[in-house]
Amino acid sequence: MKSSLISIIIPSFNEESNIEMIYKALSKEFHDLNYDYEIFFVNDGSTDSTLNEIKKIVLTSSKVKYVSFTRNFGKEVAILAGFQHVKGDAVIVMDADLQHPCTLIKDFIAGFEEGYHQVIAKRNRKGDGWIRSCFSSLYYCIVNKIVDVELKDGIGDFRLLSRKAVDALLMLNEGNRFSKGLFSWIGLDQKIIYYDNVARQNGKTKWSFPKLLNYGIDGVISFNNRPLRICFYTGIFTLILSFIFIFTELSLILRNGITQPGYFTTISAFLFFGGVQLFCLGVIGEYIGRIYYETKKRPHYLIQETNINDGKSDEANQ
Ligand code: UDP
Ligand code: MG
Repeated sequence: MKSSLISIIIPSFNEESNIEMIYKALSKEFHDLNYDYEIFFVNDGSTDSTLNEIKKIVLTSSKVKYVSFTRNFGKEVAILAGFQHVKGDAVIVMDADLQHPCTLIKDFIAGFEEGYHQVIAKRNRKGDGWIRSCFSSLYYCIVNKIVDVELKDGIGDFRLLSRKAVDALLMLNEGNRFSKGLFSWIGLDQKIIYYDNVARQNGKTKWSFPKLLNYGIDGVISFNNRPLRICFYTGIFTLILSFIFIFTELSLILRNGITQPGYFTTISAFLFFGGVQLFCLGVIGEYIGRIYYETKKRPHYLIQETNINDGKSDEANQ
């Protein structure tokens, strides 16, 4: 019986020092496994010699495929490009920086053989900065109260997906992609595997605080319109408060006359309502911004070069 083909998607942005290492680690891992595999690098507009490193490996191994974008389109889009091009019966998504241990692959495949459509790696936060850990825990706590899909702390993109799961993901064609949410949205039978957090081997993380914040906002906004609703209720609540305030103040003035100039109350009310209005406008703006991007129907990415020829590579891919 022909064994399943396993595809490994590796989004890579300025990972020159990691490409060869991850390739070797994967080759070693698959050496002991009785599975055919392909390694699919997505060079996400790297400005270092990541592409050259990939090409060097391509010369030595027919199992390595790649697409290289015209610029940096972001990890989420790089993963999508992988899904659109790989052929595997099961697809593994992992980072280039060796933070995702290759040794978990055999557990992934075991889960796949058991019939799970998503085998998900969950890490603890060992070695993470405490500020980032605190923010993450707080974020997941709040976000799960707001969004419809379930997002778990420590669960990222590192996982195995069956062909059925990948095909389901390919049906979700939104431009603004929040993979964690999309993975959760498709559902299907899931198994979780636990592992210890690993520090990055070489290079720097691509996540700055503003990038993380934007990613966090994407997570909330992409999955429902509840923030708009909250915004609406906040508006009504503050309106009622202001009516009560005006009514009591007015009756006091009618009874006692103006006792003191209302400097403090005026300024605090002004600030409060100004803040509420700006907050609400911001939330509405987030949604309108997304509608704006989606209506453009731009391709998700553009490919500069690739070593695959499956007919999809030239069309900028929808
Ligand atoms: N990455 C990418 N495009 C980007 C940012 C990151 O393809 O714009 C890749 C990066 O090369 C790595 C993975 O996404 O393979 C995870 O990035 P990183 O290690 O910086 O994130 P962290 O592990 O710190 O969350
Ligand atoms: Mg990393």
